[in-house]
Amino acid sequence: MSEHPRYSIVAPIYNEEGNIQKLYDRVSQVMDSTGESWELVTVNDGSRDKSFELLSALSHKDSRIKVVNFARNFGHQLAVTAGLHNTSGDAVVVIDADLQDPPELILDMIERWKAGYHVVYAVRQERKGESWFKLFTAKLFYRLIYRITDVDIPLDTGDFRLMDRKVVDALNSMPEHNRFIRGLTSWIGFKQTGITYVREAREWGETKYPLKKMVRFAMDAVTGFSYFPLQVMVYVSFVLGALAILAIPIIAILRLILGFQFLGGQVTNIILLLLVGAFQLFFLFILGQYVARIYDETRGRPLYIVAEKVGFDETTATIVETTKQTVPEPQPES
Ligand code: UDP
Ligand code: MG
Repeated sequence: MSEHPRYSIVAPIYNEEGNIQKLYDRVSQVMDSTGESWELVTVNDGSRDKSFELLSALSHKDSRIKVVNFARNFGHQLAVTAGLHNTSGDAVVVIDADLQDPPELILDMIERWKAGYHVVYAVRQERKGESWFKLFTAKLFYRLIYRITDVDIPLDTGDFRLMDRKVVDALNSMPEHNRFIRGLTSWIGFKQTGITYVREAREWGETKYPLKKMVRFAMDAVTGFSYFPLQVMVYVSFVLGALAILAIPIIAILRLILGFQFLGGQVTNIILLLLVGAFQLFFLFILGQYVARIYDETRGRPLYIVAEKVGFDETTATIVETTKQTVPEPQPES
């Protein structure tokens, strides 16, 4: 028997007492059918129900089940992060505990992984049992993220995915706090592919993503991967400035040559207001550019991810090399 399991399944758990037995049954049935070794790493994200007791009991019965118990609710993305930190499989699958992501799909993912892909993500073709509000906001969210972010984050794709050990190691090397994991996975690169599936309704219980958490999640996605909101200012500033500058000759001609009087002589004030507004927004934009760079530096993301090196003297066993920003890099002259 090898030291570590071939596959690790990560499931974040927040008040899922009604789903845990079914999750275990279905995951173990699917994973046993591979004929290879596996572990199920669950992260109890501060559940207030019997989830932890149920998970511990399962773990005592079946040593392949592991439980990381959070001291309080830290949120879905951090639960997944902790799960990933605690895996040792060659391939790692992240799955929701409510069985909205069918474990049976893992077999297809494994097949793609064996064919050479490093990330196999599951694309939702259809979503069952969700409110029109959730469907609408999710659709809007994925399209917005797709348009304004700098990395290609696939549409309609959640965290249900298989990742090669190299990718997990790279993810684990990223210390940023506000984590949008699917964005980070895309950022890392490697060979990625998607498979489609129908997202089922929740087995039991209610969504643990109320509007407040959804908004926070969306903000993490946008701020983590895009400076678009900071760039908008410069466009608005140009529009205001252009309006002011266009207005000056038009008003002058109308007033001086044709003798029209507008808004009781307030026009100059309005033009001034537009100009000052344009200036202020422009310098806010500049300020934003500095803030963005500070953010980039403090986040501590690796500068790049190396997939492999060829032709170096010592061939090392580790293939992923991440260079932290603390290592000084020669900066190109600009
Ligand atoms: N979850 C978590 N912490 C939270 C919220 C959710 O660990 O604060 C888990 C939850 O138990 C589930 C997964 O994250 O396994 C996805 O949550 P949910 O099904 O509520 O989200 P939805 O499918 O409605 O988007
Ligand atoms: Mg769910």
